[in-house]
Amino acid sequence: MVRAGVHVATVEATIDDLLDGLIVDFPPTTSDPVEFMGAQFDRGLAWTHFPVGEGGLGLSPADHLHVLQRLAKVHAPTAFARNVLGYGMIAPTIVAHGTTEQKQRFLRPLFTGEEIWCQLFSEPGAGSDFAALGTRAERDGDEWIVTGQKVWTTLAHEAAYGLIVARTNPDVTKHKGLTAFLVDMHAPGVDVRPLYQATGEAEFNECFFHEVRIPDDLRLGGVGEGWPVSLTTLMNERVSIGGTVPPRGSGLIGEALKIWRQRWTGRSDAHAMAVRSELLQSWVRNETFRLTNWRASDLRKAGTPGPEGSVAKLAFAEENQRTSELCVDLLGAEGMLYGSNYPLVRPKESAMTGGDMRKAFIRMRANSIEGGTSEVMRNIIGERVLGLPGEPRSDKDVAWKDVPRS
Ligand SMILES: Cc1cc2nc3c(=O)[nH]c(=O)nc-3n(C[C@H](O)[C@H](O)[C@H](O)COP(=O)(O)OP(=O)(O)OC[C@H]3O[C@@H](n4cnc5c(N)ncnc54)[C@H](O)[C@@H]3O)c2cc1C
Repeated sequence: MVRAGVHVATVEATIDDLLDGLIVDFPPTTSDPVEFMGAQFDRGLAWTHFPVGEGGLGLSPADHLHVLQRLAKVHAPTAFARNVLGYGMIAPTIVAHGTTEQKQRFLRPLFTGEEIWCQLFSEPGAGSDFAALGTRAERDGDEWIVTGQKVWTTLAHEAAYGLIVARTNPDVTKHKGLTAFLVDMHAPGVDVRPLYQATGEAEFNECFFHEVRIPDDLRLGGVGEGWPVSLTTLMNERVSIGGTVPPRGSGLIGEALKIWRQRWTGRSDAHAMAVRSELLQSWVRNETFRLTNWRASDLRKAGTPGPEGSVAKLAFAEENQRTSELCVDLLGAEGMLYGSNYPLVRPKESAMTGGDMRKAFIRMRANSIEGGTSEVMRNIIGERVLGLPGEPRSDKDVAWKDVPRS
């Protein structure tokens, strides 16, 4: 097979040589994770599809999938689990829009997890319509002064840095007056407060910025170019959330099968047969989704993913909710006994998958909201993939400051 003019077998052999060396020099289960991942970055195996010198080898996303699959087999530490927003969304945004200094300063510690990142986009009055945001950034010499509020900020309590988008020009239309910055989450004026979810955990936060000073050399992209910078993050977010290719029969469907084997096998009554049929249908849907993601990843070129990432994000949310519901059904009355008495935990990682299925069932409700709601994904698929007419937009040609808001 030939991909981008290079024989796939040759590329995989080269990657395998590099992986073999990494695994010998840093045994994955006994080495310090930061050292292992630092070496992985230095050898271009952090994001194989990123440019050489930026944690990559300039290859394709499919080649990177090969790296992930091989490292999973040897139980290597993963950046995705520890630094989910940094790894899947913010790193590709820095690569696409950052200066040489920003790339050199931030990519390696982001990958190793020495610096956790958060995404400061949503605001109380601007979620789906995030371009309507009101956090202000005003220039003061070589610095910007940022004041405003962000909300639902995953892992802000763990983060060393955040990618924040603020309004630098209220006199132009909403998409044109935005600018992106990399902000030190421990700078004076940043206040991070927990928001507790239905699970009793606070993965996310509300973040207040009171006259926070950001040096201009931490601006990401040009002044007024916050929208294209944000689109890079959002396009990568959809693929990062929905586009992964787990091993066959793993994840939630693996849990459903496990519960079936423990509690239902050997039964041949009508109820058990109906449940078995539901389980099989769920297996087929999960496997179809997995293979579709595999094919999409094979076809994907290096660079920012296209709007078809919304298909994966939508399918991920719907299927996770259905499969976790099936797991709880399979548990019978025990499925109702979620153990939490609201311990008010501040987790160190985002709990997107796995663990107690009763907790997973509650957590997965958020899948159709986080990273863009399912309604918004359907709009994107309709307008940008299928070419259907767009929604009427009353604020299209109006300066942001003149748009009526409550
Ligand atoms: C677990 C979790 C983690 C999150 N982490 C982060 C994070 O780290 N950083 C961050 O910036 N944000 C984060 N978010 C916020 C998330 O991106 C927003 O919640 C989401 O974009 C929806 O915005 P909203 O909550 O303001 O809802 P709204 O935009 O007010 O939507 C309310 C309802 O209206 C519907 N709706 C809105 N517009 C349309 C439309 N045009 N057509 C049809 N229906 C529409 C929506 O689908 C929804 O059902 C997180 C959210 C969750 C649940």
